[in-house]
Amino acid sequence: MTQRIANFNPGPAALPLPVLEEIQQEFLDFRSSGMSILEISHRSKLFESVLNDAAERTKRLLKLDHRYQVLFLQGGASLQFCMVPMNLAIPGKPSAYVDTGTWASNAIKEARVLEKDVHVVASSQDREYTYIPSSIPVPPGASYLHITSNNTIRGTQWDRFPDAGDTPLVSDMSSDIFSRAFDPAPFGFIYAGAQKNAGPAGVTLVVIRNDLLERVPANLPTMLKYTTFAGKNSMYNTPPCFAVYVVRLVLKWIEETVGGLEKMENLNRRKAKLLYDYLDSQDFYRGTAEPGSRSLMNVTFRLPSEELEQKFIRESLAESLGGLKGHRSVGGCRASLYNAVGMEWVESLVSFMKRFVEKNG
Ligand SMILES: *Cc1c(COP(=O)(O)O)cnc(C)c1O
Repeated sequence: MTQRIANFNPGPAALPLPVLEEIQQEFLDFRSSGMSILEISHRSKLFESVLNDAAERTKRLLKLDHRYQVLFLQGGASLQFCMVPMNLAIPGKPSAYVDTGTWASNAIKEARVLEKDVHVVASSQDREYTYIPSSIPVPPGASYLHITSNNTIRGTQWDRFPDAGDTPLVSDMSSDIFSRAFDPAPFGFIYAGAQKNAGPAGVTLVVIRNDLLERVPANLPTMLKYTTFAGKNSMYNTPPCFAVYVVRLVLKWIEETVGGLEKMENLNRRKAKLLYDYLDSQDFYRGTAEPGSRSLMNVTFRLPSEELEQKFIRESLAESLGGLKGHRSVGGCRASLYNAVGMEWVESLVSFMKRFVEKNG
């Protein structure tokens, strides 16, 4: 038996073990084709059925009706930072953004590079991005309101989404898509790099409401237009076949093994509660996000000194608890509790944290 560790990596991150096993099992001969999934044509019926099933499962899990399409793109979530304003900003109208830290800030930066009329309508920069702003004034006639549903680096998450009236919500859901149930009705556009909570690196999941496709300007490069991919079932050119295949298996696991997004959310809430309850019960570790804005996915915390943080990360790894180092831009520690992270891993983490305090507190 190979020894697998409790994997708290922020992304690429843990994948469900049954998914990895299924990949292994059918790796050399995919569905009796005599070929690996890596070797078959993206134009084959076999691959088309994989991609279509991944899209259908996305629609079922997110409760998307016929007005929405699911696309599989490349370039990571980061390419969406420029594709969103290029495609969806209506000329002469403002685009509203909420700045909740690194990824949100990057999205704003790219919209500004394109000289769009960017309005940062709310920001949590004043308190080091430790919270989600509560008042979100959307300018009349805005093209969209862009938010980052979960802030992977700062450990904050929108609990309830802002009410933008008729303005479509656009959200970067890279680090919490498929982690909880939500009403998709206010959303015009959702994007997520798969490598946090939906699969491996190499594919970006995009959900677009059909009416937003009408905004796409004709004079954009082909590869940067949503209409190119929407009109060709994500296969204008070769899609990232293997990554799409793994995303499908992850979604199948959520639907058929976990039992849907409500059950997934319930599990995620229990995992996060275990760790936050412990953080709140002592004063050696200090959670960095304000309690009302805490993320269920990324739990960020500090120890009394950077030396202790380094020791914590070193010793946790020696006990097969991996990926607990905070993002290099903020330091500290972070436990990412994505869907594939089991309750028993979080229990091991809390038990390790208690022992660490006994020796170092
Ligand atoms: C990781 C992350 C990104 C960057 O994703 P890439 O696919 O590497 O471009 C963007 N937004 C959020 C919220 C993230 O967590």
